[in-house]
Amino acid sequence: MEEAPKDPSPASKADGLTLSAEEMRSLGYQAVDALVERWSTLRDQPAWRGAKREDLEGLLREDAPEDATPMEDVMRRAVDQILPVAARVDHPRFFAFVPGAPVWSSALAGFLSNGFNIFQGTWLGSSGPSFVELVVLEWFREWLGMPAGSGGLMTSGGSAANLDALMAVRERFAEVTHPVVYMSDQAHSSLAKAARVVGLGPAGVRMVPTDASTRFTAERVREVIAEDRARGRTPICVCATAGATNTGTVDPLSDLGALCREEGLWLHVDAAYGGFAVLTPEGRSALQGIGEADSITLDPHKWLFQSFETGCLMVRDVPALERGFSAKPEYLQDTEWGDDHPNFGDRGLQLSRTFRALKVWMSVQTHGLAAFRAAISRSMDLAVRAQAYIDAAPDLELLSPAALGIVCYRYSPQGSALSTEQLGTLNERIQDAVVDDGYAMVSSTRLEGAYALRLCIMNYQSTWEDVEGTLSLVQAMGARLCD
Ligand SMILES: *Cc1c(COP(=O)(O)O)cnc(C)c1O
Repeated sequence: MEEAPKDPSPASKADGLTLSAEEMRSLGYQAVDALVERWSTLRDQPAWRGAKREDLEGLLREDAPEDATPMEDVMRRAVDQILPVAARVDHPRFFAFVPGAPVWSSALAGFLSNGFNIFQGTWLGSSGPSFVELVVLEWFREWLGMPAGSGGLMTSGGSAANLDALMAVRERFAEVTHPVVYMSDQAHSSLAKAARVVGLGPAGVRMVPTDASTRFTAERVREVIAEDRARGRTPICVCATAGATNTGTVDPLSDLGALCREEGLWLHVDAAYGGFAVLTPEGRSALQGIGEADSITLDPHKWLFQSFETGCLMVRDVPALERGFSAKPEYLQDTEWGDDHPNFGDRGLQLSRTFRALKVWMSVQTHGLAAFRAAISRSMDLAVRAQAYIDAAPDLELLSPAALGIVCYRYSPQGSALSTEQLGTLNERIQDAVVDDGYAMVSSTRLEGAYALRLCIMNYQSTWEDVEGTLSLVQAMGARLCD
């Protein structure tokens, strides 16, 4: 026998792992208190904190301890030393990359589903939760305007959903030799990765350049398809983007849908960024035609205000998806309850799956859909207002117009004769200075080679003061650097 741990609390039971009800309660409340403290003071915290490896080595490098430590102390270290050294992606002035601002109900749903330790891989393993996943997928189907019978699964995110989609595409066109999928140069990198994983190879992916509006046009895709057919290749799928991560631009979904029907191709729409804008009138018109797609990637952890990892894939042809993934090993023979009782493990890579749909279900039930619609509209309005501010400011230049909450621009002092390159260097320095300041978190991109500052507004708590404060900080930093 090992010696008893020096400090026996709180893991005080004989096995060293089981806590008493009182201990669980007390520690659980402490965790909630730490979270509420963070959530209620978020606006006053820096939008981002990072650290160099060498600083973290000194603080956190250690061997796994053989002996117990009171959980209060362990949790304190997590809350003080580890968790805050990160981007606050949910900060109202986090406008970088793609923000993720969950509602409290989503965070609690994640906690509950972890605590109930739901195994959402089979109907046998989770009948109630599987049914709720079906309910939530049906909500999404209706919001998107996909035909009855469409379905899918919740995933870890947009990347996993894109991968699952391409598996279904491969399955539908299993007999084809030299298959090719098409995507624009603005498509998310996860699509190219997914193509690699499903074995399409470099020759199986055609990147089609976009026009000046960063969309790819059906005419251009049609030409490329004809070229490829002439070379003995078989086009199988067009991947459109509904809300490009760079600019928020949406590919012409109806035109691409018509093209795919004519050519007998699968239309996949990567709407991880912008999909939930369909809940608003502006978004619905921007995403017109999305319901005609064969598959749609969504990311509830973006514009539906869910905590990570909450993604989703919707497909028309659910059997194709299941053919792509289902495997029937002997040790799962008890789990076949028939077609009406899907085993979600048959629709994607994961067998052990967490109950992600609970987050969406609980938060939509709690707040009502109207609150979500209003919050999504508000972000789009703020981006339009940011564009107006940039248009009116003599020292700011618009580089891409407000689209689904994104605006790109650069600092460009009036009357200066800086080259594109010099402007790029100046804006890079502004970007660094704004990040160092901590008031807001912003990020940059490149548009047709030119360095661009980018605002991505996707937080239900962001206000015009937050956006204006950030733009005026950029102006102030720019003026200072030009001095
Ligand atoms: C964010 C994003 C993805 C990737 O989603 P993850 O949830 O990060 O895996 C894919 N496509 C688009 C358009 C995105 O914006």
